[in-house]
Amino acid sequence: MQTGDGLLARVRVAGARLTPADLAALAKLADEHGNGLIEITARGNLQVRGLRPDTAPAFAEAVAALLPIETGLAIDISPIAGDDPEEIADPRPLADAIGKGAAGMAERLGPKVSVVIDGGGQISLSQLKADIRLRAQPDNSWAVTLGGGKPQHMDAQGVVATALALLGALAAIGPEARATDLFPVRDQVSSPESPEASRVLIHWRPRLNLVQGHSRAIALPFGAARSAEIIALCDAAMASKLTRMRLAPEHILLLDNAPDTLIAQAAEIGFITKADDPRTRVSACIGSRGCTSGHIAARDLAVQLAPRLPAGQTLHVSGCAKGCAHPRASDVTLVGQADGIGLVFGGRAGDRPSKFLDAAALGAGAFPFQGGR
Ligand code: SF4
Repeated sequence: MQTGDGLLARVRVAGARLTPADLAALAKLADEHGNGLIEITARGNLQVRGLRPDTAPAFAEAVAALLPIETGLAIDISPIAGDDPEEIADPRPLADAIGKGAAGMAERLGPKVSVVIDGGGQISLSQLKADIRLRAQPDNSWAVTLGGGKPQHMDAQGVVATALALLGALAAIGPEARATDLFPVRDQVSSPESPEASRVLIHWRPRLNLVQGHSRAIALPFGAARSAEIIALCDAAMASKLTRMRLAPEHILLLDNAPDTLIAQAAEIGFITKADDPRTRVSACIGSRGCTSGHIAARDLAVQLAPRLPAGQTLHVSGCAKGCAHPRASDVTLVGQADGIGLVFGGRAGDRPSKFLDAAALGAGAFPFQGGR
């Protein structure tokens, strides 16, 4: 994908599981072939930025040789699926069956068509948009939501048949088709996220129980890290004899059986390791540093403002009105526009700003939160 800082590659690591050595090798490839900026997306995919037409093919070849990569229809499951003692059902057999059934239609499906299968464990996938959403129920059934329709309960066999029927219909219509075209969002259908959940930017659970052992969560600030930071983390992880990492939604990296010393090292490198870190309440896109639509260097501004963010407030700094990093409302949104930095209270990046701020004053310490509205 072409972006403002070159080509962007999205890497869907099979099973979302990899070793520290694999992640370090991938970070080295990102440095060698791209600009060294690595992201974990809101859906838990790796992204590498700043590739060029002459380096991207070699990068793709090297990554494919390094790791098993998923292609085709995107099916999201929890990165601890099958290892989660709290999950109601293991979503992997359904993911396998739907993935295999949809293999022949992948090229006719739009790239954004997705299936989310939530086994009801410790990592909720309710924040992820989905054309088909499946959620395990305590009575061994699955709640199936197609597009914006009402959830229907059925057994696993019915789920696979229903999902493949809808995917077949979307493939027949063509790559522009989405499930909401066939099952529009109805006013009376409530969103899967609660109003409270929509105010939180990272759903933080610092320690997850596994069937064997545990996993500790750290997050990439604003979803991104430099390759040197990733390599330093992986080196520390290998020194701690850690053998498995997992890519998780909401820009989180899980470190299986990580000791406290490794989490302390991750914090020193710059990763978010604590739920009360103000950066868990701030989202920001790359802005003008890597997107041609960006009017402001959104992440740079977010780095400056995060330490001054009052407790309990959420902040979204967006390069433009599209609001890619956080499509929902925040307490305060700063949005880059052609005529300045717009300030939106309690809304989204696309909402009308109540006023415009002076970039120099913001950088010098004036803060839109102090004193309320
Ligand atoms: S919000 Fe605008 S500037 Fe930021 S990544 Fe999206 S399109 Fe680019």
